[in-house]
Amino acid sequence: MRLYEFESKKIFQTNNIPIPKGEVVNSVDKIQTQTPSVVKAQIPSGGRGKAGGVLFGKDLSETKEKAKQLIGNKIKNFPVSKVLIEEHVQIEKELFMAATYDTTRKLPVVIFSTEGGVDIEELAKTHPEKIVSRSFDILKGFQEHNAREIVADAGVKGNDLLPVSSILFRLVQVFLKYDATLAEINPLGKTKDGKFIALDGHIEIDDDATYRHKDLIAELGEREEGQVKKSTEFEKKASEIDKMDHRGVAGRMIEFDGNLGLLIGGGGASLTSFDAIKKYGGKPANYCEIGGNPSVFKVKELVKLLLSKKGINKIAVIMNVVSNTRVDLVARGVVKGVIESGKKPSETITVFRIPGAWEDEGFKILKKYGVPYCDRTVSIDEAARMAVERAGK
Ligand code: GDP
Ligand code: MN
Repeated sequence: MRLYEFESKKIFQTNNIPIPKGEVVNSVDKIQTQTPSVVKAQIPSGGRGKAGGVLFGKDLSETKEKAKQLIGNKIKNFPVSKVLIEEHVQIEKELFMAATYDTTRKLPVVIFSTEGGVDIEELAKTHPEKIVSRSFDILKGFQEHNAREIVADAGVKGNDLLPVSSILFRLVQVFLKYDATLAEINPLGKTKDGKFIALDGHIEIDDDATYRHKDLIAELGEREEGQVKKSTEFEKKASEIDKMDHRGVAGRMIEFDGNLGLLIGGGGASLTSFDAIKKYGGKPANYCEIGGNPSVFKVKELVKLLLSKKGINKIAVIMNVVSNTRVDLVARGVVKGVIESGKKPSETITVFRIPGAWEDEGFKILKKYGVPYCDRTVSIDEAARMAVERAGK
């Protein structure tokens, strides 16, 4: 769940990270500030500066005029309904700091650079040595001295070292406390009198952890139309199928434009299958995960839903080796679903690759209906290749 800048900054404030004075408004009439201001479009995206979403007004009338340009218009294709009006802080330097996860090494990582601002992505490409990144052990936590080491390694010296590392330390505490997948300040501005202040903020909370932050999320309020991806009708129907029966998972899905319906599963294996299908030039119609021994009924209904969509006439069924899902139940559900859709299993199911518990019984059913199936000697990658070959690119 991506928080807006003003929401991220509220959290910063609660956690003693300095932010500029400001307020969020949804109408120009509510603006009262006389001092030079920054007018910032509140959209769930960065890169606003470059897209004309961050404007400056020197007095009330100019600030109102800038706000008028933003409210009701689109920035980076997002409708702007709110702007953040902040005092225009004079700064002489922009720094970057963030905490996120290194998903390859599976560790939290802290990233810092003395050259922050709107060109940070460019800097990462041209001068990677100017960005210091350090992972840490989540069980040991992150201490103040860890922050000081990172900031010092990036070349911050003298009077700046302590205030900057203390802000970095607090940012990492925010990252951990709110179960964030990202907590970023870019830029952290250094004012002319040597103070540091977060000019922009970006926090993303792990969707799987939102139940731990119900109060915070209730306080943040409703997400507006156009600002979040809404479920499609197809996705909603799939999720209803999933809820019809408590056994197993079959129905949590994301819809795409392709022609190949997917029943894939097993955590990482579903991602592997999906990626492999894309690699071989296939066009998935959906991403979904099945697992946990779904009932025949649930699998059948999901297959019927997939095949009811215009443009889908083939499906692929791929999982890793299963121990807690019965292969025969999935096979039965898939075959039933295809038949009840008025199609032939042998022509519709491009590949069935679920090895594991009750596979002999499962393969017997598939054989009877002429469905191409494979066991664990065929890799997920190879099964995906077969599916694409049979479904067409
Ligand atoms: P982003 O482009 O979406 O990341 O939006 P930012 O909030 O980071 O704003 C883009 C740029 O505008 C920043 O990198 C700063 O250079 C500048 N900026 C934003 N707020 C202020 C401010 O209060 N004072 C000054 N001097 N510059 C600001
Ligand atoms: Mn920024």
